[in-house]
Amino acid sequence: MKPIGPIPPAFADQRGMLRIAGRSAEEWVAAYGSPVFVYDFSGIAAQVARFRATMPAGVRLHYAVKANPYAPLVRGIAPLVDGLDVASAGELAEVLAFKPGHATSFAGPGKRDVELEAAVRAGVTLNVESENEVRRAIVIGERLGIAPRLAVRVNPDLELRGSGMKMGGRASPFGVDAERVPALVRAIVADGAEWRGFHIFAGSQALDTDALIETQAATVALAGRLAEESRHAPPMVNLGGGFGIPHFAGDTPVHVARIGTALAEALDRRGAMLGDTVFAIELGRWLVGEAGVYLTRVVDRKESRGETFLVVDGGLHHQLAASGNFGTVVRRNYPVAVAGRMGAVADDAVSVVGCLCTPLDRLADRVVLPRAEVGDVIAIFIAGAYGLTASPSAFLGHPAPAEVLAGAS
Ligand SMILES: *Cc1c(COP(=O)(O)O)cnc(C)c1O
Repeated sequence: MKPIGPIPPAFADQRGMLRIAGRSAEEWVAAYGSPVFVYDFSGIAAQVARFRATMPAGVRLHYAVKANPYAPLVRGIAPLVDGLDVASAGELAEVLAFKPGHATSFAGPGKRDVELEAAVRAGVTLNVESENEVRRAIVIGERLGIAPRLAVRVNPDLELRGSGMKMGGRASPFGVDAERVPALVRAIVADGAEWRGFHIFAGSQALDTDALIETQAATVALAGRLAEESRHAPPMVNLGGGFGIPHFAGDTPVHVARIGTALAEALDRRGAMLGDTVFAIELGRWLVGEAGVYLTRVVDRKESRGETFLVVDGGLHHQLAASGNFGTVVRRNYPVAVAGRMGAVADDAVSVVGCLCTPLDRLADRVVLPRAEVGDVIAIFIAGAYGLTASPSAFLGHPAPAEVLAGAS
């Protein structure tokens, strides 16, 4: 049998029927159908509050919309954060529809001309990913008579140790290699664009607190060096993010208070060119991941050659990451529970499989849970980030699951 990941603190100590934002899992499924994603807004607000309490005053917090673009959630989090970072014209349109003027930046490789134009028209900062993109943005700005706001995304010559996804220190489709950045900054200023600063994102889903501290200090130092070589002070430096959350057995949370203390020291030591620079951290997963639960009902309980399978009405078409097919090398089990039997004795060895005709559709592999029967609800935790929109929902043509933001005013 294989271990399961740690259930997030807000749910871990519950007994009996799982409750999310004051309602039972059965009530959520009765109200919205199965499967359903429930996002507890109070959990998201609590993470924002933790950030504010532990990070140096003045460091801005941005929400990376792609982690969970569910519109009520984005609308709920927007007033709590200082900016929304988008990665497509679709996300940009979603944000502009309700919050024109909210500080927003647009990153991502392969921005098309229509996307650049939408950003320039809206006055959104483009985190440019190449020299070519700078030229196209400037041509578009000249045609529109609007100076584009450009920040340079840097492909740093450093890498976030222990991060699930490494983004720096090597050849990369993301950002401009650090050594080419100063010349590009001078060209941006010379061409009359509005120079907004640097965006330096060194990795994602890091649980190693010391590695995050080291990377942030190195990022502040790199920004200072690039500013000097560019001979232009950056109005803003986006330090990336990368704070991870525990998903698997043995994972432990990042120590944000230590990160905050160390970042304050790194900022105290920052280069003279960064004296008036505003710093931002952009987070997705850490803000919203633990607040989401995916609820799915058992449709069948079957035996095959000595193993028991709980077949549920959901699957990897909604929650790809839990099946181990989204950015993990070794398949490990997400935290999972029988929603009606929280805290009960676990004595039933089962695999939880989805309803798709592929052996990949396995939401929990050979785990021990309290006994579940047909009709019981299974809860898959850590469903608040990179869930529905990071899954192949069109695969096999099952209906879309409901999503609900619970507890927002
Ligand atoms: C995806 C992304 C993020 C968010 O990463 P998380 O691991 O969800 O915090 C932040 N910045 C950039 C540039 C991204 O592409």
